[in-house]
Amino acid sequence: MQLKKGIPVSPGIAIRQAFVLDTEELRIPQRFIEKQEVDTEVLRFEAGVRGAQKSLAAEISRLDSKIAIHTQILEIHKDLVADPILKNEIIEGIRDHQYTAEHSVSRILNRYIKKFQAMNSPILAERVHDLYDVEKLILSTLLGRRMETINTLEQEVVLVAHNLTPAQTAKLDTRWIHGFATDVGGKTSHTAIMARALGIPAVVGLEEISTAAIGGDLLIIDGFRGVVLIDPDERTLEEYRQKEADTRRVARRLRRQTKLPAESIDGHPIEILANIELPQEVHASVELGAKGIGLFRTEFIYFQSPRNGEELHFQNYRMVLQELAGRPLTIRTLDLGGDKAVEDSTPIVEDNPFLGCRSIRWCLVRPDIFREQLRAILRVSALGPVRLMFPMITSIHELDQALVFVDQVKEELRGEGISFDEDIPIGVMVEVPSLALIADLLAPRVDFLSVGTNDLVQYTLAVDRGNEHVADLYDPVHPAILRLLVQLLAVGRKSDIEVSVCGEMASEPLYLPLLLGLGLRKLSVSPQMIPEVKQVIRSLKVYEAQDLASRCLEMSDGVAITRALKRWAIENLPEVGARL
Ligand code: PEP
Ligand code: MG
Repeated sequence: MQLKKGIPVSPGIAIRQAFVLDTEELRIPQRFIEKQEVDTEVLRFEAGVRGAQKSLAAEISRLDSKIAIHTQILEIHKDLVADPILKNEIIEGIRDHQYTAEHSVSRILNRYIKKFQAMNSPILAERVHDLYDVEKLILSTLLGRRMETINTLEQEVVLVAHNLTPAQTAKLDTRWIHGFATDVGGKTSHTAIMARALGIPAVVGLEEISTAAIGGDLLIIDGFRGVVLIDPDERTLEEYRQKEADTRRVARRLRRQTKLPAESIDGHPIEILANIELPQEVHASVELGAKGIGLFRTEFIYFQSPRNGEELHFQNYRMVLQELAGRPLTIRTLDLGGDKAVEDSTPIVEDNPFLGCRSIRWCLVRPDIFREQLRAILRVSALGPVRLMFPMITSIHELDQALVFVDQVKEELRGEGISFDEDIPIGVMVEVPSLALIADLLAPRVDFLSVGTNDLVQYTLAVDRGNEHVADLYDPVHPAILRLLVQLLAVGRKSDIEVSVCGEMASEPLYLPLLLGLGLRKLSVSPQMIPEVKQVIRSLKVYEAQDLASRCLEMSDGVAITRALKRWAIENLPEVGARL
């Protein structure tokens, strides 16, 4: 058994065989054979090697001889496939351990991959790529028609990968993929947010899980503690099976509360909305008790088909609105760039994309795409309660530029006789400290402010939200963040405009008493977290939370604040405390 520690990003327990993406991208259906099958298995392996050699030779002969480098690479692969030491080790695996040919290939090659990686040499790093390629080649030859890719899975697995892009995560089929573990990533990376949206346990920032786990290994993903166990022993497995069953029971119990009001013991009503990435999530959000959608991230519509613009956006929004049946919908304009890279249409290559042409900046330099989306949002506003929200605004000038586009598009629609809500509420996300600091100047120009703590923490503390190496520094309760929240809430009260939080901080039971104590009454959270968020709200008294918040505001560092929040949870919220 091996234990790997990472960052827990989506709660839950998953126990399944590993499907390792990025290394073999193929699933090995069987790992062991019977003793009497050993000779046939060795013959099968040798046939697989011959098949791989033949396909390499065919590819080399097809190649243009001018592309010498490509030929050289394939020659290296041919040598590796024929390497007698490697071959013998793989055959030993089959004979001595009764591995299937596929499992033995994967195990032996991965052993070399790990060895080479540990040596930290650029030359050996190249060999690592070659070994991955050779592994994939032999495996695909051996598996032949039994080959499974991530798109053709027919068995429940947990996915292991170096990294997953948000677009890849959005396409994961949760019928087969029950959890995932990645080498890189942080708590509020968009991939992590997608995992929570899909409701599958996930651990990221494990650094080397994609080489430590081999396709077919049994894995436990503990999305509560941020731990992955490879090939667990019987006792651990039994413990986790028990935990998995307990988790399901608690989830069922929490779900029974969905019809109860989100109100504190001392009678303060809190509005809980959902953050969604895909229209398919609305139904579950409402079922789980959401009073509307507080953040519709629209990037995934763009990723589906960047070219279909207005119509695709309109259809998606209409679908969401219909499902909401009169509940409000806040649509955020495209927030592309950063970790949601746009391959073909980013205007420039950037060294530092999170500080570059991201989000609203990207829209302002791509007016063609921005206008299409604004048209779709305005058109759908004729059909129900829709609000428009701009992400990552940093200055009044930037907001004014965006508003000019809205006015132009409104004029265009009037000219075309297309109806829309003339008074559509327009708000901004507060994600950058510069905006939080000038919220009073902004307030007269907008209808609402929604605090995007994921980015606000990143930009205030200068900590990349997706970088596992600085994850310890990513602290949503850093006094600087709390001061910004206090300031924003004061502006909200003075100017009588709504201030809510839609960052992941609001989905975290540990932080909820503090947020409510500071004065927040409206939260937009990951749909799967709604039952738990509601349970916390229903278990506390706001005046006690206010006292907690006052004490936290007097503390000078985030570590002490976290400690105080944990102590408070242990004393006041036994179910939250039990998991700390
Ligand atoms: C945020 O930054 O807090 C937010 C909600 O936006 P996103 O996570 O999509 O960047
Ligand atoms: Mg953001």
